[in-house]
Amino acid sequence: MRKTLIQNARIFTPGQSSFPGWLLIEEKKIADFGENSAPDTYIQNAEEMIDVAGQKLLPGFIDIHTHGCLGCCTMDADPESIRKIASFHVTHGVTTYLPTTMTDTTEATVNAIRCVTEFVGKRGDFAKIPGVHLEGPFFNAAKCGAQDTANIRRATAEECRAFLDAGIIKRIAIAPEFPENLKAADMFHEAGVSISAGHTNAVYADMAEALNHGFRSVTHLYNGMSSFTHREPGAAGAALSLDDYSCEIICDNIHSHPAAQNIAWRCKGAEKIVLITDMIRPSGLPDGHYPQADGSEFIVSHNGTELRIPSGALAGSALTMERGLKNFTANAHATLEETWRCSSLNAAKLIGIDNETGSIEKGKLADLVLIDDEFTVKRTIIEGKTVFYQ
Ligand SMILES: [Zn+2]
Repeated sequence: MRKTLIQNARIFTPGQSSFPGWLLIEEKKIADFGENSAPDTYIQNAEEMIDVAGQKLLPGFIDIHTHGCLGCCTMDADPESIRKIASFHVTHGVTTYLPTTMTDTTEATVNAIRCVTEFVGKRGDFAKIPGVHLEGPFFNAAKCGAQDTANIRRATAEECRAFLDAGIIKRIAIAPEFPENLKAADMFHEAGVSISAGHTNAVYADMAEALNHGFRSVTHLYNGMSSFTHREPGAAGAALSLDDYSCEIICDNIHSHPAAQNIAWRCKGAEKIVLITDMIRPSGLPDGHYPQADGSEFIVSHNGTELRIPSGALAGSALTMERGLKNFTANAHATLEETWRCSSLNAAKLIGIDNETGSIEKGKLADLVLIDDEFTVKRTIIEGKTVFYQ
């Protein structure tokens, strides 16, 4: 059995605050870890020793909401695009991600589901893909953001069935204020899919009712949803106040103000915040205008950090997970000991893969990331194998 020993790391685990120590990987899994220096037998038997000189060892990042980058998108329904996106992710510490669709026709969505499903179970120098995240099409056009209003529609049982039959869906975002959409949520919930309220104009009462239909999270808190006001707390107020809701949040300091991130932390705490990137096709590309085949256009500005459509609406982000974690930890006025779950374990729980990944625990898969004090990703490990190193 192949044994790799990581030494001189600062290790973050669910059990205690971080500590200086070592971690032993046997084949694909975390076999053991501990404080200070490793037992002599582990040192003698290790085939590979990695001295990381005090870098922080965290569970690999899990990004459950991300569309594409480098000119590629999940909606290409092209294996080459998926491979390119998944390879980019590991350079930013992501070990697992959900390729995420955009609102489109039934046919385009089904094609994307089929393409993504082909990657489930595949291993290589790219992030693992447990299934697809459907962002749409069952939204409220009043909160469309960059989603295509012409294709936003109410759910039907037939279309939901077509999606479920096309492949492996791990997560879907739905506007819960329409009765048809609640019926769809029941179908997806029964199929074990994580359900999120998104691109929604729901009032507080709609959000409370949605909990009875399997909703347990919201899509990019604050963005594409009814805002908090004191007389009608809206989807944002419901997400912040109802404990059953986990909140995706884009911590690029553009989609959500630092103070708004701080409020989310105070309301939801360490176990209900799920950091996402919401990266889209032009993420990772230089500033410029990028006309799309369908006649739309993306505008990249501010050194690749702002992505908009010509109307001025935000079109998704160019954020990466390590920057999101850095921003959020600072904005929450918290420590990494408190926030590390927000970039891994909370997401794993939401999509039901936490029994095998998402935290540093004995017996879990060795899906790991090493970062330095500036949160720069130094090494990404998937199932015991280094897939990125700098
Ligand atoms: Zn999105």
